[in-house]
Amino acid sequence: LKGENEGLSAGEKEFEKALRPLSFDDFTGQQKVVDNIKVFVLAAKQRGEALDHVLLHGPPGLGKTTLSNIIANELQSNIKITSGPVLDKPSDLAGLLTNLEPHDVLFIDEIHRLNPIVEEYLYSAMEDFRIDIMLDAGPNARSVQIGLNPFTLIGATTRAGLLTSPLRARFGINARLEYYDSTLLTQIVKRSATILQAPFEDDAAFEIARRSRGTPRIANNLLRRTRDFAQIKGDGVITKAIAEMALKALDVDQNGLDDMDNRILQTIIEKFKGGPVGLSTIATAVGEESETIEEVYEPFLIQEGYIKRTSRGREATELAYKHLKIVTPLNRSK
Ligand code: ADP
Repeated sequence: LKGENEGLSAGEKEFEKALRPLSFDDFTGQQKVVDNIKVFVLAAKQRGEALDHVLLHGPPGLGKTTLSNIIANELQSNIKITSGPVLDKPSDLAGLLTNLEPHDVLFIDEIHRLNPIVEEYLYSAMEDFRIDIMLDAGPNARSVQIGLNPFTLIGATTRAGLLTSPLRARFGINARLEYYDSTLLTQIVKRSATILQAPFEDDAAFEIARRSRGTPRIANNLLRRTRDFAQIKGDGVITKAIAEMALKALDVDQNGLDDMDNRILQTIIEKFKGGPVGLSTIATAVGEESETIEEVYEPFLIQEGYIKRTSRGREATELAYKHLKIVTPLNRSK
């Protein structure tokens, strides 16, 4: 999936690591979520217990992995990181669980993509800190119960709706991360530029921030590309003019929509008369996976008011017509 960790190159991963906030104080925005989690972390620490299991959901790149690392840091615990699709069989999970120290954090990214058999094993691990393991097969098969150290599971997902209800019910703490406004993203861009020792002008930081689809990961990536333009086409300083040049070269438009966002809007309007049209039809037309459209592109386009979801499919709004400078047909029923 675009925007997911697994799709990042080695260079991008290094870069993300360098810019990743390490403490609550470094983490900008998501104030309410952070304030609550701080209380739960402190309370668990004071009682000498493991923190309750945490479910973090929201679009990719908003800080779910970052926040999980911070939680582990603040708990002074280790964090083990894995993801739903990687845990193929129960023994993969058992291996991880039995190696956890008391109060450690196990982070499972894309937890909605867990194999159902593995998920089943997770239930008793989360609830009673024990797992039943099958030894041998056939007539010698027997199950042994293994006790686990009390641990915290942090599950991250872009699609909370796809979690089964028994799994969801086992998370005591449930938090949704929201898109960042441009003020917060400007702070994030400035912080990142400072860490990268890239000289910048304030209005350039704002320009990058406001065109980053409300997403810190995108803001950091655009900053990185802008720094390249400043180095090659300018004198190294990230100015507003350089930022505009870079954004244009990267097909990020004035409203911060990227090439795929615009293709989606164009498809709905030009090929399907503004909709309603089904997700998979849009996906085929633009040559992208339905899943990616639903998890990455659509939430932002809906939040910004370019499309709406109806029972009959996706519809372009007046704003989408305006954005693409297409006249709204008079006979549209809206
Ligand atoms: P997710 O797990 O939700 O996909 P990540 O935690 O991997 O997102 O965040 C992507 C990148 O964005 C991180 O490397 C980090 O540098 C940056 N980032 C995310 N949230 C924040 C934040 N609140 N403040 C500063 N940087 C952030």
